[in-house]
Amino acid sequence: MSSYVFPPAPQAAVPVRGGSQQYAVTRIFCVGRNYAAHAREMGFDPDREPPFYFNKTPIDLVMSGATVPYALGTQDLHHEMELVIAIGKPAFRVSVDDALDGVWGYACGLDMTRRDLQGTAKKMGRPWDFGKDFENAAVMGPLVPASEIGHPAQGRIQLSVNGQIKQDGDIQDMIWSVPEVVSNLSEYYHLQPGDLIYTGTPEGVGAVRPGDVITGRIDGVGEIALTIGQPE
Ligand code: MN
Repeated sequence: MSSYVFPPAPQAAVPVRGGSQQYAVTRIFCVGRNYAAHAREMGFDPDREPPFYFNKTPIDLVMSGATVPYALGTQDLHHEMELVIAIGKPAFRVSVDDALDGVWGYACGLDMTRRDLQGTAKKMGRPWDFGKDFENAAVMGPLVPASEIGHPAQGRIQLSVNGQIKQDGDIQDMIWSVPEVVSNLSEYYHLQPGDLIYTGTPEGVGAVRPGDVITGRIDGVGEIALTIGQPE
């Protein structure tokens, strides 16, 4: 048996609320522009586009409660408060009606974004990776199983910076609902346990600065917090 040249990285995982279990993460998908008002604030017509996606790397994960250094290479680090889906069964070409069978649970997430680098990428027709896939860019609250909370189809989604509300929406305003996202994505990937899907952010995204404390919540799902530290 051959050995590894370097020890393998630790398994990326998200804690499950209220217990000692963790959910091992293999992939992170993110839906772009899934709330009409956010699409408009970013300068796009929300009515004409099928869903589109980008990915983050599991090494980007950081858990709620952490203090993270202000991100590298940006002057415009933004918060995006999102409902996150955790897949619990293989799902391939599933119908919208069957899609929720494949969902294990939910969490609050922050899709941290280097908006200036994303903006440059959009303008130049380049990939979004530098704007979206970076260290500490995938913030996760504890996962809660659908067996406990059901499949939330509505509920307030809010984010505050230093106690001041910046994002205040409702997950029922998603352009593509949870079952629609899972069904659509399952046309392009063999979804499997370990796949997380960030479902997009409501309007009110904005910049954070070192020292800022971000807090967020989704009715019936939970809460999330992140402190932005000095750059390192
Ligand atoms: Mn997002």
